[in-house]
Amino acid sequence: MIFRYQDDKLFCEMLALEDVAESVGTPCYVYSSAAILQAWRAYDAAFGELPHLVCYAVKANSNLSVLKLLADAGAGFDIVSGGELFRVLRAGGDPKKIVFSGVGKTEAEIELALQSGIGTFNSESEGELAVIDQVAGRLGLIAEFSLRVNPDVNADTHPYISTGLRDHKFGIDIADAPAIYARARQFTNLRASGVSCHIGSQILDYSPILEAAGKVLTLIEQLQAEGHAIRHVDLGGGLGIAYKDGENAPSIATFIADLRERVDRAGLTVTIEPGRSIVGNAGVLLTRVLYLKKSPSKQFVIVDAAMNDLIRPALYKAHHTIRPLRATEGAIVADVVGPVCETGDFLARDRELPAVIAGDLLAVESAGAYGFVQSSNYNSRTRPAEVLVEGSSWRIIRSRETNEDLVRGEEPLL
Ligand SMILES: *Cc1c(COP(=O)(O)O)cnc(C)c1O
Repeated sequence: MIFRYQDDKLFCEMLALEDVAESVGTPCYVYSSAAILQAWRAYDAAFGELPHLVCYAVKANSNLSVLKLLADAGAGFDIVSGGELFRVLRAGGDPKKIVFSGVGKTEAEIELALQSGIGTFNSESEGELAVIDQVAGRLGLIAEFSLRVNPDVNADTHPYISTGLRDHKFGIDIADAPAIYARARQFTNLRASGVSCHIGSQILDYSPILEAAGKVLTLIEQLQAEGHAIRHVDLGGGLGIAYKDGENAPSIATFIADLRERVDRAGLTVTIEPGRSIVGNAGVLLTRVLYLKKSPSKQFVIVDAAMNDLIRPALYKAHHTIRPLRATEGAIVADVVGPVCETGDFLARDRELPAVIAGDLLAVESAGAYGFVQSSNYNSRTRPAEVLVEGSSWRIIRSRETNEDLVRGEEPLL
């Protein structure tokens, strides 16, 4: 267990989290390097001898130190913007192991990617293929691409993060793919080398991913028969994690073993793009209780972290387990809310919690993925610090923003 109580104090690896909170202040994100590496290695190891590429989905947590940790471990990266490309290169990631996904890449982003020598593009429209071809031609390069197909399977997840149905903006209808691969032969600066799909996120029952893999492999057989040199299949990310005590998330090893049963004999390199399942349960958001407040019908625990720091509860009604950094007797039922001027600003609703009081420190768990990266300066709140733990040592990997950061680039009207 990476996060656990020891002598009534909540630890991350071999470090008491209250030491970090007292020193860095709150709110503050804390990540375990051991947890991140464990998850990445679980993917890598489960593929064994099968040619594979585990491309960490940068959008889940794009801190340079997190990327560096994974780059040093040999990870590839799945990016969705020129900014993410910049981060991966700055962190020392291998450009050849970069997959550039996303539904709307600009010409400037495509040019930067080609100049950097990225491995491949996952493209989602013919219009974009034409632009990649044109830019590659100008640079005198051949660009490799996969079409992201939409296999029309339903991942049973939150509607905002389900992406594999026909009426979603993502991908190309799998039935249209052969015609598009055929027409793409006219693009002389492109080479079709793969097929990709990604059906959604926080998927706890992964049978739809297996179903999608089956459909994509059938498509690949057809494309190969039509003379396309398809060498890799990219099955996206999306594996879910346990957010609640007792919630059962599939193990990475079992998931990949089941996936391998479908793909082992196809003679392809298998790429996957996990994000949440690598960093999600490796991070917590530390916050301090400011006040307790009672309304006629509710108990509120007002804390110094808010929806601008962690938007998942407000955006997806997501559940994050909240624990005090010092084990506490007694129980209350409360809404845990932040200082932002929105009723939607809550971290938990009607939650049974240990009986905390003003001044107590809390950990909002499972906050390593889609936490800091979705933070904002709403209400002119400075974004929190980020800390990386390694064993019993820790360091700040992003300083807390200052008020000067808030107004950088703004000019008062004269
Ligand atoms: C978001 C995304 C991922 C990562 O999804 P997780 O649920 O975090 O594993 C992978 N690939 C693509 C194309 C994505 O959009």
